[in-house]
Amino acid sequence: MRPLDEVFERLAGSAFRRRFRLGAREAEYLGAKGLEMVLAHGRDFIEQRLAPALPPNDGKQTPMRRHPVFVAQHATATCCRSCLAKWHGIPAGRSLSTVEKDRVLAVIERWIVNAEKPQPDKRGAKRSNLPAERRQKNSPAQ
Ligand SMILES: [Zn+2]
Repeated sequence: MRPLDEVFERLAGSAFRRRFRLGAREAEYLGAKGLEMVLAHGRDFIEQRLAPALPPNDGKQTPMRRHPVFVAQHATATCCRSCLAKWHGIPAGRSLSTVEKDRVLAVIERWIVNAEKPQPDKRGAKRSNLPAERRQKNSPAQ
């Protein structure tokens, strides 16, 4: 398995992975259920959709939206076994070990926790809690 920081660095360099964001619906769901519950669902998704040696429908088993974990999985390349192999160095064709399942969940958690933080560089920054002065300083190209 590749080191977590290295994986996140590479993900940040991918225009495709970077464009995934929690939508209003997923953010609301996360707020309502709380991180712990959402991650418990994540554990189930990993168990059922990723952990088997040959997951059913592999490559298409993760919806693009509807649950914060699904969005996080696409953003972090933990959506299917080929992405896990390519990005995380976890080989396909065999069941995931407990350590690997924990690792996938840790990746998802890190992304969701990050996604919850205010992002001054995107539209909707008005809703940010940052003071105006700091917002401006953080805005690109002004
Ligand atoms: Zn994938």
